[in-house]
Amino acid sequence: MLRFSNLSLINKSTRATLRLYSTAPTVKLWIDNKPVESKTKEYIDLYNPATNELIGLVPKTTQEEMNMAVESCQKAFKTWSKTTPLLRQQVMLKLQQLIKENMKDLAASVTREQGKTLPDAEGDVLRGLQVVEHACSVTFMQMGQTLPNIAKDIDCTSYRIPLGVTAGICPFNFPAMIPLWMFPLATVAGNTMILKPSEKDPGAALLLAELARQAGLPDGVLNIIHGQHQSVDFICDHPAIRAISFVGSDQAGTYIYRRGTQNGKRVQSNMGAKNHGVVMPDANKENALNQLVGAAFGAAGQRCMALTTAIFVGEAKNWIPDLVEKARKLKVNAGHEPGTDVGPVISKDSKKRIHDIIEKSYKEGAKVLLDGRDVVVEKYKNGNFVGPTVISDAKPDMTCYKEEIFGPALVILTVDTLNDAIELINNNPYGNGTAIFTTNGATARKFTHEIDVGQIGINVPIPVPLPMFSFTGSRGSFLGDTNFYGQNGFNFYTQLKTVTSQWRSEDATPEAIQTSFPR
Ligand code: NAD
Repeated sequence: MLRFSNLSLINKSTRATLRLYSTAPTVKLWIDNKPVESKTKEYIDLYNPATNELIGLVPKTTQEEMNMAVESCQKAFKTWSKTTPLLRQQVMLKLQQLIKENMKDLAASVTREQGKTLPDAEGDVLRGLQVVEHACSVTFMQMGQTLPNIAKDIDCTSYRIPLGVTAGICPFNFPAMIPLWMFPLATVAGNTMILKPSEKDPGAALLLAELARQAGLPDGVLNIIHGQHQSVDFICDHPAIRAISFVGSDQAGTYIYRRGTQNGKRVQSNMGAKNHGVVMPDANKENALNQLVGAAFGAAGQRCMALTTAIFVGEAKNWIPDLVEKARKLKVNAGHEPGTDVGPVISKDSKKRIHDIIEKSYKEGAKVLLDGRDVVVEKYKNGNFVGPTVISDAKPDMTCYKEEIFGPALVILTVDTLNDAIELINNNPYGNGTAIFTTNGATARKFTHEIDVGQIGINVPIPVPLPMFSFTGSRGSFLGDTNFYGQNGFNFYTQLKTVTSQWRSEDATPEAIQTSFPR
């Protein structure tokens, strides 16, 4: 089996001029299928969220290196775009196998840099792997359309052809899955891609690039740069980059969407969320509460599809104390420790931000039924841990309701009727996901048809569509018009070319001159 033990994606030199005191390894760029040491003088610290140990230095890629990455993509596009879909499919089939074989290494990297539990990190990889499997259907998904005989002896065919150089900008919360939402579909369609992983956890993306190389992806088809604003601006502005896939916060997503589209690029921008779970009094109580607790506190609440807001309808509010007890029992610990339910949040800043929102909840009149701020993890006292937190009696004008907390905090509101719950959700600016827990089909159907949210779960807490569908967050959670993966994903990474052709034998009667449109 292919392992990473010999892989020198990072080295232990201390050449970073501004970091001469540090022995932390520098993270590599990935250009022309090789790990490349950046010549930059500026680095971003990379910490293990469970310990706050400095585990790496992420280079702010220089302009020259970013240009090198684009040139490498442009050069590779010339030949890669001419390969057959069957060849590209073979690369994806091999990549699929390699990801499976290296699942544990990928998950370990995710846990070390992002903090989530090892089983959840494997889920992160698995959900990305399913997109690679979906990429293998390129021979069907990239088909164009044909209509013969649209006029005398004339046939019309539209081809789906690649765009050229594309780019992906990733968030920290799914270090394997989100890069895998992007580069497999972009490259299997014949494009090349520059990927910018999150500066907070770039390791998994580099491991995936190495696996893609081993799978047969040629030099320059996938290049990786690092950094923050400067590399994002570079991607938005470089004229050779035709399309940008972005996943992350509202602030960055709106900025990238505006700047990228102003420069004539296609942009798909998946952004923040505030997902509501509606609990009806006719729900299966144990099931609803278990699902809610898992979806609110799993991954320490750092999922864009986490159910972060619960709406208890009518008498269902009597179940709130039971929910609090279930949340209290969750085990907070480092992600690599067996039996952990809730790992650390990504950074000290993030922990402080969550603490501040909890503090404000008291001040603004909510009830904090479970306060996770004083949680202590004995073995990892320096980690960014926040315990499960339950905030009840919330109102729509409170900070805890208005802001995306992105931590292990569940905000609870109570309403009298299903109509009230629907109105509340539809008035929220976000439209990523929602769920309802009920045993009544009519209630479920009404909810499905009246709710203005892009992804709905009926007794399913985190309704992320599998890759044969598309990820269809809506309203404030999405900018663009072509969603990630599914047929939409192929559409995003391809453009149409339409050929209208007339073939007649050489002795056919010539057409007369026509100066008006043919009718
Ligand atoms: P983030 O926006 O801080 O970072 C995402 C990327 O944008 C990073 O690569 C970062 O370097 C870059 N970036 C950050 N700030 C920037 C700025 N001001 N200008 C330009 N570039 C910038 O997001 P994050 O904290 O890494 O991820 C969490 C967010 O992502 C949450 O809001 C979450 O809901 C969202 N998210 C959404 C989805 C979805 O599909 N809707 C999926 C995962 C995460």
